[in-house]
Amino acid sequence: MTKFYEVRKRDGAARLGFLSLHEEKKQTPLLFHIESLSSDKEVIKVIHAEDPNFNDLFREDLWDVPRGAVLLPEVHPLFTKVQEAIPSLSVDCYVLSFASALLNSPRAFVRRIIDARNAIPSDVALWVPSIATEENAALLFYMGVDVIDDTNAVIQGYQGIYQVEEGEVSLRELEELPCNCSVCSSLTVEELREQNSKERALLIAKHNTLLLEKEVKKVKAHIRAGSLREYVELKVRSSPFLTAVLRIMDLDEEEYFEKRTPVARNHGMMANTMESLKRIEVKRFANRVRERYEPPMSKILLLLPCSARKPYSISPSHLKFTEAIERYRGRIHEIILTSPLGVVPRELELTYPAAFYDIPVTGY
Ligand SMILES: [Zn+2]
Repeated sequence: MTKFYEVRKRDGAARLGFLSLHEEKKQTPLLFHIESLSSDKEVIKVIHAEDPNFNDLFREDLWDVPRGAVLLPEVHPLFTKVQEAIPSLSVDCYVLSFASALLNSPRAFVRRIIDARNAIPSDVALWVPSIATEENAALLFYMGVDVIDDTNAVIQGYQGIYQVEEGEVSLRELEELPCNCSVCSSLTVEELREQNSKERALLIAKHNTLLLEKEVKKVKAHIRAGSLREYVELKVRSSPFLTAVLRIMDLDEEEYFEKRTPVARNHGMMANTMESLKRIEVKRFANRVRERYEPPMSKILLLLPCSARKPYSISPSHLKFTEAIERYRGRIHEIILTSPLGVVPRELELTYPAAFYDIPVTGY
C-alpha cells in the first residue's frame, strides 16, 4: 500500500507515476538533486531499520508525509528484520542501500535490483541512490527503478570527469565540449580548464546533472511511447558492463519481465540488435507457437521466406507465392521462416508482434 505515490503508466517494468512531495507532485522517473536532499527541507522521510523511529513505519496514523524505508543487503545483520517487516510497512518508497556495490559486477547489478523489486509491493517507488549516470539511467528505469539522484554526476564533476552520452571522458582529453547545455554553450573547453578548481568542478557537475536531467526526460518519452526496450538496446551499446546486464536479464529474468510486458503495443517492434532476439515478446511468441499452437492436418508443408512488408501476405513476394499456389491453398500448410520470430504459421501472421516488427534486411 502507498499513500503518496501513484503509478499511472507502464512500459514493461518501467513506470510513469507521481510522488507527492510537500504538496508538489513530482513525476517519476524522478531525479532527486543532491543539493535539495542535503538542505533542511527533507523531500522524503527515509528511515533505516536501526533508527529508533523505525516502528513508526508500521503506523498508518503517523503517515502524513511521504516516507520510505531502507532496503539492506543480504549480508547485513538486520536484513531479515526488514524483509519480514515489508508487508506491514506503510511507506511510499524503498531506498536500496549500498547501491554502489552494484557496480562491482553485472550479475550483482541485476540480482539486487530485481530482488528488491520482487520483495517490495508493486505500487511503491524504488530509489537506487548514488549510481545514476546518463549512460545507465535508462537501464535502471527499464528494470523498475523509479527514483535516481545526481550524486554520481556531482561527484564525478569534482573529479574532473565530464560525462557524455556514451560514458565519460576526462576534461584533459577534450578538444571541444560536445554538448549544448547552458554550461557548455557559455564557454570553450580551454576556458573551462582555466577556471579555478572549485569553479571548474561546479561547472562540470552542473553539466553532468543537466545531461542526466535530459536523459530522464528522454526515458519518460520512451515509456509514454512504449519504446523503452528499443532505447535501452541502443543505450547499452557503449558499455560492455551495461550490455552484460541486459543480456543477463534476458537470460535469467524471463519470469520478471514476462509478468510486466504487455501482450501487444500500439507501435512496431524494432529488432535491430542481437539483444532484440532475446526480448520477452520474441521469446513469448516462440513459446506460444511451441506450446499452444496446433497445426492443421495437412500433408504438405510450404516454407516461405519472410518479407519486409507486414503482414507478409500483402507483400509483393507473398502475393506472387499466393497466386502460384492458389488452387492448392486449402491443402497446404504455410509457414513463414523469420528473424527474429522464428516460425510464424500463416494463421498467426496478424498477431503481435508478427505483423508489427521491423528488422534490418541486407539480402544476404
Ligand atoms: Zn554540457
